[in-house]
Amino acid sequence: MIVGTPKEIKNHEHRVGLTPASVRELVAAGHRVLVQAGAGAGAGMEDAQYRVAGAELVDSAAELFARAELVVKVKEPQAQECAQLRRGQILFTYLHLAPDRAQTEALLASGAVCIAYETVTGPGGGLPLLAPMSEVAGRMSVQVAARLLEKSQGGQGVLLSGVPGVPAARLVILGGGVVGSQALQIAAGMGAHVTVLDRSLERLRQLDQRWGSRITTRHSTQAAIEEELLAADAVIGSVLVPGATAPKLVSRALVARMKPGSVLVDVAIDQGGCFETSRPTTHTDPSYLVDGVLHYAVTNMPGAVARTSTLALNNATLPHVLMLAELGWQGALRADPHLRAGLNCCQGQVTHPAVAQALGYPL
Ligand code: NAD
Repeated sequence: MIVGTPKEIKNHEHRVGLTPASVRELVAAGHRVLVQAGAGAGAGMEDAQYRVAGAELVDSAAELFARAELVVKVKEPQAQECAQLRRGQILFTYLHLAPDRAQTEALLASGAVCIAYETVTGPGGGLPLLAPMSEVAGRMSVQVAARLLEKSQGGQGVLLSGVPGVPAARLVILGGGVVGSQALQIAAGMGAHVTVLDRSLERLRQLDQRWGSRITTRHSTQAAIEEELLAADAVIGSVLVPGATAPKLVSRALVARMKPGSVLVDVAIDQGGCFETSRPTTHTDPSYLVDGVLHYAVTNMPGAVARTSTLALNNATLPHVLMLAELGWQGALRADPHLRAGLNCCQGQVTHPAVAQALGYPL
């Protein structure tokens, strides 16, 4: 099969669909790979590395879309990319169609076979192509909190780890799922005093078994959240109720009672955020103050570490890309029900129940 990766054109997107290592695997399996010149530059992956791996470099997105049978990307296709897709061509990328009628209509009009990373399921449950980005955001969230606690950033001037004779900062994690447990790993490693709140007792049991007395776990109630936040130096918001907007766990009134110069990192902002005072921010202007409390709510945190994120994403996507290239979309989707769960639009039809329900299409 001819597999192609264009340069991402969404604003500030530096990740790329295929790494040189993934290209090498595809070429070794007998496929041809087209890469648009410069596609990997933002992630530190040069054209020469793609050439060595066996890719054919093409100059324009137009040529790539015209020749590739399987297009592997990162972000949802922009309008000009949708216009270049054709009937039966396979598109494998993040799509997030439910809130995006315009993109859905454009993909349906193209007749392409559109498989979304975010709805591919895993044999053990979960969403394995979303998890790597949650891992990145979770680990990064503590780095961000540590930096924002510095005086020059507007924070209260506290070192996360403390020093001998001075207590460590209190870091509270709301939601101990993928983001929360990765945040916990970094925060504990840095020596913070960590408390994790989750409403799933099973989750808290798992964290307790793993971390024992090094952390505190608490069932997530309004009373527990209030008590923890009033004592906190930094809070990571990492709750998720699948398919729903994030629950607002922290009111504006509670934020106003927090320590001045404390820090809220709302990782759940891509689902609306879990602090009432959160609003989406960007990497160029990531934080703002409300009632003396520093807020960080960047919706695409992994974009800041494009190289790590690209490598992590490819680790998860490559087996599926190889399967699609080997068996074609019909064979691959028949062979793997988890990949089948990723099919969102197929040759003019919406095929994913959540997308159909959100946008009012028949299944
Ligand atoms: P996850 O499903 O693995 O974990 C969510 C956890 O929240 C679960 O353990 C769940 O029990 C818990 N939870 C639900 N309601 C709760 C409540 N009321 N109180 C306490 N805990 C509660 O999800 P995840 O992969 O960790 O993702 C978390 C959020 O981070 C999602 O909104 C995701 O989209 C977002 N995310 C954002 C970025 C970014 O760049 N901003 C990047 C990756 C992920």
